[in-house]
Amino acid sequence: MRRILEVTGLRCTNCGADYPVDVHLHACVGCLWPLEVSYLPAKGDSATIRRVLGEARRMWDFSGFLPIHDPRNIISLGEGGTPLLPVPYFSREGLSVFVKNEAANPTGSFKDRPLSVITSLAREHGVKTVVTGSSGNAGVALAAYAAAAGLRAVIIVPETAPREKLMAIKMYGAKIIMIKGTSSQAVTIAGELSAAKRWLNATTTFQNPFGVEGDKTVAYEIAASLGFKNPHYVLIPIGAGPLLAGCYRGFQDLIDWGLSKTMPRLVAVQAEGCAPIYRAFQEGTETVRAWEKPETIASGIADQLLGYETDGSLTLRLLKKTAGSVLSVSDKEIVESTMLLAEKTGIFAEPTAATSVAGLRQMVRSGTLRAGETVVCLVTGSGFKDIQKMKDYLRIEDIPVVPPSVEEVARLCADDE
Ligand SMILES: *Cc1c(COP(=O)(O)O)cnc(C)c1O
Ligand SMILES: [Zn+2]
Repeated sequence: MRRILEVTGLRCTNCGADYPVDVHLHACVGCLWPLEVSYLPAKGDSATIRRVLGEARRMWDFSGFLPIHDPRNIISLGEGGTPLLPVPYFSREGLSVFVKNEAANPTGSFKDRPLSVITSLAREHGVKTVVTGSSGNAGVALAAYAAAAGLRAVIIVPETAPREKLMAIKMYGAKIIMIKGTSSQAVTIAGELSAAKRWLNATTTFQNPFGVEGDKTVAYEIAASLGFKNPHYVLIPIGAGPLLAGCYRGFQDLIDWGLSKTMPRLVAVQAEGCAPIYRAFQEGTETVRAWEKPETIASGIADQLLGYETDGSLTLRLLKKTAGSVLSVSDKEIVESTMLLAEKTGIFAEPTAATSVAGLRQMVRSGTLRAGETVVCLVTGSGFKDIQKMKDYLRIEDIPVVPPSVEEVARLCADDE
């Protein structure tokens, strides 16, 4: 495919300092803020770019927009191209609600996008070992893509990570180490280990700026699905916020290229039990402080940001630029939304991923949304990889067991016509 974006290097998201591409550089040397990949202005006219974006079916159909030069280095399992599904149940009073179902990715979460880019980068730069600190999904995705790439993967997770995710990581043959600590601590250890051993740090906080490049394709896909008429709101479950930053970047690209007119308001959703970015937003400060003790069913976004608080400050800055906001949702709202989403749409999300729907319900209740508006909820990961948590609510021990006779079964189905 024709190259539309040419990489020039890395740029500080805060002070604008420029750096050459260096896969071992994880923050601005001057101000310690996260870096982003910088590009030359896009090559090609609006019509050509629009056609390429409109015809894409999978993430690497955007390869001309992604920072991997040699197509032979691309590690793909068929990620991206996830469905944008209308949800009639929520689309009342002239409101159009869509779910972008990221559970449809190869390992069941949007993390396949950043890790497909990052493992391709490892291959392009001849790195042999990749490491991540993760609450689970990024670990599963890295393990899978490292297997496909023939890379050695080391995954560091908190001991609270869902068992299903641990098993998936082992299944893909990665090395897994559990710490008696939080996701944030796993992230920090992965960072230090990568620096000491010159391993590629694949952690999908902002430590690896290339991950956001994979995330931006979510915005390209949403825009293309809606004929480049951007939604009014996009609701995004956030930990540190690279997915939100990717959405910002993708939608901004489309505006820069003259394909869309408006930037959607990006609404970040955090869990009440770990909401450092929400707290800063409420307090009206620009500086995010680490959260003391994460306690929520939404383990995939239980990110304290301890030691990398600027990640949160960057996310806050970006969402404010879109006139967006931050919501916080309780575990009760999360569980209800997870079940409602499954029952009303057929999408089984993990609790973390249904926080966007919990956020939507808050916005509906508070009357924020108006007739004629379009809202997209990102459902970021599959419930099949975090199923044990729903045990108490599903009560499978109450399922009736009867002798194997049609009469017995029919008797229990008396009410179902
Ligand atoms: C990682 C993750 C998030 C949060 O994404 P960030 O880019 O880290 O903010 C949300 N949902 C799920 C299911 C995740 O695995
Ligand atoms: Zn800087």
